[in-house]
Amino acid sequence: RTVYVNGQFVPEGEAKVSVFDRGFLFADGVYEVTSVLGGKLIDFDGHATRLERSLRELDMKAPVDKDELLAVHRELVEINSIEDGMIYLQITRGAPADRDFAYPAADVEPTIVLFTQNKPGLADSPAAKVGIKVISIEDQRWGRRDIKTVQLLYPSMGKMMAKAAGADDAWMVEDGKVTEGTSNNAYIVKDGTIITRDLGTEILHGITRAAVLRFAREAQMKVEERGFTLEEAKNADEAFITSASTFVMPVVEMDGQKIGTGEPGPVAKRLREIYLEESRKAAT
Ligand code: PMP
Repeated sequence: RTVYVNGQFVPEGEAKVSVFDRGFLFADGVYEVTSVLGGKLIDFDGHATRLERSLRELDMKAPVDKDELLAVHRELVEINSIEDGMIYLQITRGAPADRDFAYPAADVEPTIVLFTQNKPGLADSPAAKVGIKVISIEDQRWGRRDIKTVQLLYPSMGKMMAKAAGADDAWMVEDGKVTEGTSNNAYIVKDGTIITRDLGTEILHGITRAAVLRFAREAQMKVEERGFTLEEAKNADEAFITSASTFVMPVVEMDGQKIGTGEPGPVAKRLREIYLEESRKAAT
């Protein structure tokens, strides 16, 4: 596989990042994951715009502009012959001469890395047909979850807790309300209304979330953006998650209890179809 590191396309075995890189030492970096379907990028503009925001919020320099970024994405898809898969992009505050909590001087260049992950048949995931199981855990992440940082240890622990419980993912709960999944936004459906956490610093502003809510409203579905409790989730008619890599994925069980019929619900199935169809049409 060919990867991109600081302006160069190199075989993955030859890519190098310094041990002093602040991404490595302080998780001082941001990332994006863009999916590829049929060799085309899904919502590149949304991801590039959120990346700019994450960088701005952290006073971090952008090493490339949007056009260059798009060119690098396309080149990697091409070189690695990706039909369906993902592109991972990470930018860190670079590698100063020594480890220091203070941000380095402005002449330290950021580090930028991109690589592809080949996932043939990404859109026909068998999990989407049966739905996934989630458990609930306390949300113990930091307070700026709207910034897409590479600080992913707690979500990673959450994923392990889910696996240990025989589930697929964890929904995190803060002050009695669900925030989001470990790497996705969380939704329930009650009496035809789609309910998902409102935007704030408590959750990541999902690019898939924005698209799905737009499609839902265009299809005259009712949407409520507000926090919901675990109790509401357990008594919901259906539930689902969204993310760039899972699109719309039904959730059929929460803490060992069936949600609705225990099978993927009609709203989740319909939104998945609409999302995939519209995103493929708009893909670049
Ligand atoms: N929330 C969290 C915590 C995430 O990590 C992700 C995906 N990285 C999402 C939501 C979904 O965001 P997107 O739709 O942009 O992939």
